[in-house]
Amino acid sequence: ATPTALMVGIGHGATLGILIKGQDALEASGVIDTIVLDKTGTLTTGELVVESITPTADLSEHDLLRYVASIEHNSEHPIARAIERRATTDSITPAPVTHFKVHPGQGATGKVNGHQVTVGNRTLLQTEGIAPLPDSAPSNASVVYVAVDGRVVGWFGVADRLRASAAAAVETLHRQKLRTILLTGDSEVVARSVAGALGIDDVRAGVLPADKAAVIEQLRADGHRVAMVGDGINDAAALATADLGLAVVTGTDIALKSADIILVRDDLRVIPDAVALARRTRQTIH
Ligand code: ADP
Ligand code: MG
Repeated sequence: ATPTALMVGIGHGATLGILIKGQDALEASGVIDTIVLDKTGTLTTGELVVESITPTADLSEHDLLRYVASIEHNSEHPIARAIERRATTDSITPAPVTHFKVHPGQGATGKVNGHQVTVGNRTLLQTEGIAPLPDSAPSNASVVYVAVDGRVVGWFGVADRLRASAAAAVETLHRQKLRTILLTGDSEVVARSVAGALGIDDVRAGVLPADKAAVIEQLRADGHRVAMVGDGINDAAALATADLGLAVVTGTDIALKSADIILVRDDLRVIPDAVALARRTRQTIH
């Protein structure tokens, strides 16, 4: 590789909102055949909204929300921020929580007023030994269940908005002959609906944060050259495992450290731009 061509590529990247950390990164992006996309905070804005609250037991919506808000007050997940905004709107102040515990990619637990409270998905209910529920919960949004002292007392639906640039970005990636895969910890139903709306080729849903890197490893073992695009929340290891890790601007410090390329433009079309730039740079070099 001639350093001059790489420097031109890196310099041009900066004007496009693409920060390239090393020469290897730019070279690697030219031979990628698969792009794995994180959902929450990457394809979506990550600014979730609580769409429904459904108490099942003899509990008011207010009391249900207070339990949930108390737990989520201690959590950093986008779902927790959505709950906090809703609680503020409803003038609910969180209660003190002890024994708080984060279950990555599943939810959170803790004690509120001496009661054991569980907030999370079906996997978390299973882990905590709480009996599964009737299938009456909505499936169009991400459903989060709430249990108090081992009994399900309700659930709420949260929805995220796709970034305006997501569809155009995916379409361009396909024109660049790349295969797209959606990788998420969210449910199959939600993942399929997002993939369908954007025309994404394939879906890996219900994947725990710790298992996201293994999905990338498997694709590479199958002979693919893989780029992973994420926001660094729960996907830092996957970013580091990919042939090329691309972090969107909202990413945390960890994401920035594990990513090779940092996309600092609030427009997902910066992803195909990075691929095109890398391909042009490779042609100049070889
Ligand atoms: P993604 O892969 O889409 O970024 P995550 O791995 O962060 O999603 O989370 C996967 C799922 O775990 C969420 O859809 C939600 O059901 C559950 N979850 C994670 N954290 C929380 C939380 N703090 N409160 C409630 N549910 C949570
Ligand atoms: Mg995410």
